[in-house]
Amino acid sequence: GKVLVSGANGFIAVWVVQDLLKAGYSVRGTVRSEAKAKHLHKLFGSYGDKFECVIVSDITKPGAFDEAVKGIDAIEHTASPFHFNAEDPNELIEPAVKGTVGILESALKNAPDLKRVVVLSSCAAISNPTDSGILDEKNWNEDNIKEIEEKGKDATAVAKYRASKTLAEKAAWEFVKTHKHEIRWDLVTLCPPFVYGPTIHEVASADELNTSVKDFYLAIFKHVKTPEQVATIQGSWVDVRDVSQGHLRAIQKEEAGGHRFILTSGNWSWQDWYDVVNGLKIPGVAAPTGTPGAGKSVQHKQVYSTKAAQTVLGMTFMDKETCAKDTIVSLKERFGA
Ligand code: NDP
Repeated sequence: GKVLVSGANGFIAVWVVQDLLKAGYSVRGTVRSEAKAKHLHKLFGSYGDKFECVIVSDITKPGAFDEAVKGIDAIEHTASPFHFNAEDPNELIEPAVKGTVGILESALKNAPDLKRVVVLSSCAAISNPTDSGILDEKNWNEDNIKEIEEKGKDATAVAKYRASKTLAEKAAWEFVKTHKHEIRWDLVTLCPPFVYGPTIHEVASADELNTSVKDFYLAIFKHVKTPEQVATIQGSWVDVRDVSQGHLRAIQKEEAGGHRFILTSGNWSWQDWYDVVNGLKIPGVAAPTGTPGAGKSVQHKQVYSTKAAQTVLGMTFMDKETCAKDTIVSLKERFGA
């Protein structure tokens, strides 16, 4: 079969493309410009005509994906902005929502053989940082949408991003509901929290890294987190290679259709990562010391359940040592310590 991967040059997407090709699928990636296709052609040149790239310069334009979806059996939609620099929330919400609805509209028109659409959503669409307890796929982050409605530009940067992901995922499920009598495909959404792991996408300098890996790089290599941040910041994480396995299985497993899946290895605090990294004793790499062991007594407010991903997708998730080691080796090779 042939799979369309939108935003194919992104941190996560390049791994998704690679795993699809390895599994024997043909892949058509979309990127915003010719220049962004170059690195991909180099990376996947050995797959010959099993890999191709098409340009979709503006995913918010109606019909943007009309050509790209032709002849496609499955879609992995990953293109969406992930950064915390938006002033106007629409800088994030427009491409997130219009990109998602747009690719589905094009599919409805031009992809008669389509069987499955996978939308890369986020744990940002499951909960907002103040929610607590064990969270699963039934949870939705309504609060950040409300925050944007009430505060607009004055909402927090995190709320703007989180609202964009929630609104985009909701729009995808809504589209399926509205068009259920016209479509022969079903929808799967994947919800990872912070994604770390080795980078194989094109990155000009450490400064240009994608948001999640850059944060890791700055914390571990540049020691930017204050003691207060180390004591208070916590979250959940997953390795990019597990996220890409999730994408592969999401199109392979018939029974995945119609479901959302949280993909995570579990919780972290910066102290946990410091201890893991320092324990690896990689020459030339020293994370801050902090208070070794203190991460163990952090009470994690939110714990995401991965029961669905384990049961339906058969997922297992990587440990911190493996992820940290491979992330650091990759960062050190590319950008120095
Ligand atoms: P990247 O920034 O590396 O990838 C983002 C991709 O989306 C790129 O291909 C980028 O293209 C494209 N994109 C961004 N903005 C636009 C836009 N306005 N119009 C068209 N394309 C756009 O980050 P990730 O790989 O981490 O992110 C990929 C997806 O994963 C996003 O949907 C993100 O929300 C989601 N996600 C990421 C997490 C993480 O921790 N990394 C956690 C949970 C979800 P270009 O290079 O041309 O800008």
